[in-house]
Amino acid sequence: IATRSGVDAARIAELREAEAAVFRKARPKSEVRIGNGIEGFFGGVPMHWMNDWPTPFPILVESAKGARITDIDGNALDDFCLGDTGSMFGHSPPPVARAIRRQSSRGLTYMLPSEDALGLGRLLEAHFGLPFWQIATTATDANRFALRVTRAVTGRDTILVFNGCYHGAVDETMVRMKDGKPINRPGLAGEFRDLTARTKIVEFNDIAALEQALADKSVACVITEPVLTNSCMVLPEQGFHATLRDLTRKAGTLLLIDETHTISSGPGGYTKAFGLEPDLFVLGKPVAGGVPASVWGMSGAVADRYAAYNRTKEPGYSGMGTTLSANPLQFATMKATLEEVMTEENYAHMARLAMRLDAGLTAVIDRFGLPWHVARVGARVEFICAPGPLKNGDEAESAHAPELEAAIHVALVNRGALIAPFHNMMLVSPATKARQVDRLISAFADVAAKISV
Ligand code: PMP
Repeated sequence: IATRSGVDAARIAELREAEAAVFRKARPKSEVRIGNGIEGFFGGVPMHWMNDWPTPFPILVESAKGARITDIDGNALDDFCLGDTGSMFGHSPPPVARAIRRQSSRGLTYMLPSEDALGLGRLLEAHFGLPFWQIATTATDANRFALRVTRAVTGRDTILVFNGCYHGAVDETMVRMKDGKPINRPGLAGEFRDLTARTKIVEFNDIAALEQALADKSVACVITEPVLTNSCMVLPEQGFHATLRDLTRKAGTLLLIDETHTISSGPGGYTKAFGLEPDLFVLGKPVAGGVPASVWGMSGAVADRYAAYNRTKEPGYSGMGTTLSANPLQFATMKATLEEVMTEENYAHMARLAMRLDAGLTAVIDRFGLPWHVARVGARVEFICAPGPLKNGDEAESAHAPELEAAIHVALVNRGALIAPFHNMMLVSPATKARQVDRLISAFADVAAKISV
C-alpha cells in the first residue's frame, strides 16, 4: 500500500527491521549494559522520552565533542540532533567549557549575583533588542513566567496559541485544534482542567481567524515561535508577522516571541533577522551553551507596566522563580556563549553549511522523485516526507509519517548520522564540518535509494 509519503508500507517495515538488526549488532556492549532498562528508573530510563527514540534501545553515550557523539561501543556519529537544540553550538564549546572550569571552584549557586552578571543584561539587550531581562533555568519556565507578566499587566486572563505549537511543559499552551474545535492536548497526564476555557487557538498563517479571536479584547498575549518548529516545520507566509503585530497592537494584546528553536536564524534570533517587534522574548536551551539556563526579556513599556502592577499588588510569592535560577554558573556560561559563541562569524558558517545540507537533501528528493520537501530556518533544516510547503499545524500534523521517519532515523544512525528523533530535524553547529554534511547527504541518498526501488 502506498502511503502519503509515496513509500510502500511493507518496504518501511522491512527497512525498520533490517536496520534495527544492524544497530544491535554494532552495540553489543550497550545492549548488555542497558539490559531490560536502566535499573532503578521508572520505565528503564531517567527521562521517559528516552524510550521514544526509534532505535531498539537508547544510544549509551560515552562522550560528545563538537558535532560528534560516541557511544560506549565506540561508534562515532556525526551529531545533527545536538541535544535537540540544547547543544546547537556544538558539544562543550571551548569558551563555555573554559567558563565552567573557571566557575567550578568558586561555588555553583548562591542566590546572589556574581561579577559575570554585571554586563549580562546589556549583552542580552545587544543581542535581542529588549531592555529588561530575567533569568530562569528552562525555556518552559521562562515562558511560564513571561505569560504571568502578560496577564498581570493586561488584567486579562486568556492567551492565544497557534495549532501545533510547543512551548515546553506550559500547561496553558497544551491545547490543540481538532475538526476546527479547541481541545486539551490528547496525551496529557493528570490534567483536570478544561484548558480551552482560557486558551484560544487558531491556525498559524490564518489572519482572518486571528483577527476574529482577538476582537473581543480578552486576550492578554499571543505566544508563538516565529516559525512553527515542533511538528513538521511551518514557515510564516509573506506578511504574516507584520499583520500579527498590527492585530495584537490594535487589540491591546501583548506578543511573546519564543525563540528557543529559531535562534538558529542568527545571533539575534529570527526577531532580529526579520525585524520582529515582540513585547516579550523567550530563549532557553542553547543560551548558555548547554548548561541549563533561559531568559525572558520585556520591552520598556511592559517593564513599566509590570513595575506599576507590582506597586499595587499584595506582597507575597509571585509564582515566578526557581531556586537554582540566575546562578553564577549560568552567568559565566551565558556570557561566554553570547560573547564568544553566538558570533556573526559562527552563524555565517552555520548558515552556509545548512544551505549546503538543504540543497543536497533537496537534490536527493528530486533525484528519486519522492513527494517530499525540505524546510529550513537558518541553521535548522528538516526534511518532511510529504509535499510542501506546509501552511499550518493541521497540515504539519498530517505530514508526519512516524513509521517511515523511525525507519529512516535508524538507517541514518547506521550510516553514521544522528538526527533528531520524532521529526527529521537537523542542526548545523559552528563545529560542524562540510564533510559531515556531505556524509549525511550521502547517507540520505543511500536510504532514499533503498525505499524508492
Ligand atoms: N519553546 C520551544 C519553542 C521549544 O521547542 C521547547 C522545547 N522543545 C521549549 C520552549 C521548552 O524547552 P525546555 O524543555 O528546555 O523547557
